[in-house]
Amino acid sequence: MRAIRFHEQGRPLVVEEIDAPRPGPGDVLIDVVAAGVCGTELHFLEGLLTPATTPITLGHEVAGVVAEVGAEVAGVAPGDRVAVHYLHACHRCRSCRAGDDHLCDAPLGFLAFVTDGGFADRIVVPASAVVPVPEGLDLSVAATLCCSATTALHAVDVAEVQPGSSAVVYGTGGVGLAMVQVLREAGARPIAVARNPERLALARELGAAATVDATGGDVAAAIREATDGAGADVVFELVGTRETGAAALASLGKRGTLVYVGYSFDTVEITPLALVVPEQRIVTSVGNRRSELVAALDLAARGRLRTTVREYPLEQAGTALEDLRAGRVVGRAVLVP
Ligand SMILES: [Zn+2]
Ligand SMILES: [Zn+2]
Repeated sequence: MRAIRFHEQGRPLVVEEIDAPRPGPGDVLIDVVAAGVCGTELHFLEGLLTPATTPITLGHEVAGVVAEVGAEVAGVAPGDRVAVHYLHACHRCRSCRAGDDHLCDAPLGFLAFVTDGGFADRIVVPASAVVPVPEGLDLSVAATLCCSATTALHAVDVAEVQPGSSAVVYGTGGVGLAMVQVLREAGARPIAVARNPERLALARELGAAATVDATGGDVAAAIREATDGAGADVVFELVGTRETGAAALASLGKRGTLVYVGYSFDTVEITPLALVVPEQRIVTSVGNRRSELVAALDLAARGRLRTTVREYPLEQAGTALEDLRAGRVVGRAVLVP
């Protein structure tokens, strides 16, 4: 079968022929219909993140149709339309038992980090990792929800966003545009920050109460203005550079929460005094729980979560990532094998 494999930093991504995987007793074999292209893949190519093993098939946002199930699998059958939760939790460790399966201590698999991902014709995953895709929901959309909207749902949960609060979405890629909608659903007042006018317009269409063009100068001042001088209750930092970190901190109001979701090679300077006096806090959010994938699929099926999808054939993985890096993708790119 065909697969896009990561070997090492700097090596171009091309389609390779590899042996098709076979399902074990507790696994399912899935014909991949779509696999989302995420900033995480860029981080691999840039060397900011390193997979645990190489070569490895990329792609951790996967949806498809079940082709075959192992002898011990119940509740999933060939022909089922499914989305895959990227982290195949053990459901037994301390984190899993606390409901934090995204922090599992002994995962059975971790797509594109430890085990082969979905930039391929087929993929094998534990049956416990698949989630049914509601009828009528496009599988390309379902694939993108595996990371963008689920990550947004998790971050909003971590931040304990309250109805009526002002929440800045700093960066409007796939996660950011989903986050605007998740915040709208939570009754918050989303304020989107971006450099791309097309994305800012889309953020407004999806429910942003205000938008700030980051090319226009003082972002923090614009956010203070949009919050009647109070500063934001929550700022979601989806970019993670020195510049955006400083602006995000300067945008926070009293008892405000800065949530790190995005990261880069940059470091960020923090002055404890500036945080202590207004009693602000900094928290982080990583990935998402399996239950958040279920919730994201449900929201989308009910028309409460819209995703703009741009499809590329599997062979064009390199182009899709180049477009993502250059900011040319509005919404989410998916590879279609
Ligand atoms: Zn992702
Ligand atoms: Zn676990």
